[in-house]
Amino acid sequence: MEGLTSSEIAGFGVGALLVCATIAAQRVDGFIASSQRTSLGMCKKCGDLRIVACSQCKGVGSVRKGGLFTFGMLDDIYESLGAETKTSNLVPCTNCRSKGRLLCPECSKVR
Ligand SMILES: [Zn+2]
Ligand SMILES: [Zn+2]
Repeated sequence: MEGLTSSEIAGFGVGALLVCATIAAQRVDGFIASSQRTSLGMCKKCGDLRIVACSQCKGVGSVRKGGLFTFGMLDDIYESLGAETKTSNLVPCTNCRSKGRLLCPECSKVR
């Protein structure tokens, strides 16, 4: 006794194909979208601004003396000690030359 007829098998096949096609279409769609963005010159990293915020100074342009790890923690200590020379602890960021932003590495790589 045969459980499945050839038309039923074909039906399953078509159903499976449709599911696969739907999934594949979504993936292809995403792929095309990203490739279109790339072909349009849009940068995924900076949104085509060609600049990104400096990761060292968080776009401020200056960093606190002694490194990033003193951020926050020593601030409280300084404040509790009544230190008023907060700004004198700031030194120009060497990573971005105190501009607070850098050329996007992705864009400068491509072009
Ligand atoms: Zn910086
Ligand atoms: Zn970019």
